Parts: sequence; structure tokens; C-alpha cells
Amino acid sequence: MTGTYLPHGWPDGLPDPDLDDLDAGDWWLECARRRLCMQRCSACGTVRFPPRPLCHRCLGPSWWWQEVGPGGEIFSVCEPHYPAHPSLRDRPPYLVVLVTPDGSGGERLVGNLVNGPGDPNDPADQVDLLGLIGRRVNCQWEPVADRYTLPQWRLA
Ligand SMILES: [Zn+2]
Repeated sequence: MTGTYLPHGWPDGLPDPDLDDLDAGDWWLECARRRLCMQRCSACGTVRFPPRPLCHRCLGPSWWWQEVGPGGEIFSVCEPHYPAHPSLRDRPPYLVVLVTPDGSGGERLVGNLVNGPGDPNDPADQVDLLGLIGRRVNCQWEPVADRYTLPQWRLA
């Protein structure tokens, strides 16, 4: 596949990383630097995602960004055959994966599988979704808007 998996500018209405989501703003900045990171609690070491102000285990307020991945393992997968957003009208079917990045302590990220099996233009081409579970993937960065870069996934 050439170009990006998602149309440029997608999705509309992304949060302003400086104003709208103080907890996730730095996460978006790390993604722009192409660093796959999750918060690690300074008190108990728990890794957490999505970003939030307190540790869900010890309620500690201090944390730091731990780089995870870039490899990982597919935990779950689905193949939507409908557009989840009007700008994706011409995209389905596509593959959405839940990935456990290496070093994440079991925390997971959602993304697209950009080189999944099957022909996306052939609705009769069945994808062995269960066969994808447990497969190794690597992060592939995809700029989708001027200030946003998403972690996507590519079969290793
Ligand atoms: Zn903690």
C-alpha cells in the first residue's frame, strides 16, 4: 500500500494537545517524536495507558514516560466493514488491532494493521482474524494531521 493508511486530516476534531487534554498532551508530543511511550508510576512502577494524572494502583501523582515497543504482539483484532467516520467512507474493510507493546506491562494500544492479509478491495477475500492473534508486529508511525502522528502496526 502506498501513502498513509488513514486519510490526511483524519479524524476531524482531534483534541488540542496543549489545551484540551492535559494528561494526553505530552503523549501526542512523544508520538510526534516517534517515541512510543506509556506512563510509569514513580512510586510503584506500574505502567499505565491511556495517560491519566494518578496511578490506578497506588494513587501516586508522579510518573515518567517509559519508551515501549517498537515491537509487540496482537492481542485482538477486528475487521470493520462499515465506515466509523464519514471520512473513512472509501476505506472499509480495514483491520483494527489491539496490541501489547513489548515492555508495556500488559497495557495495550489500538491501531490499524497496515499490511494485514487479504485484499481490502475484494469483499470475498476472507481474512483469518483468529490467525492474527499472537502475531508479532512493529510500530509504524503515520502522520494523520499537522500535529498528530499515530502509532500503527505492521506484521513483523
Ligand atoms: Zn503507582
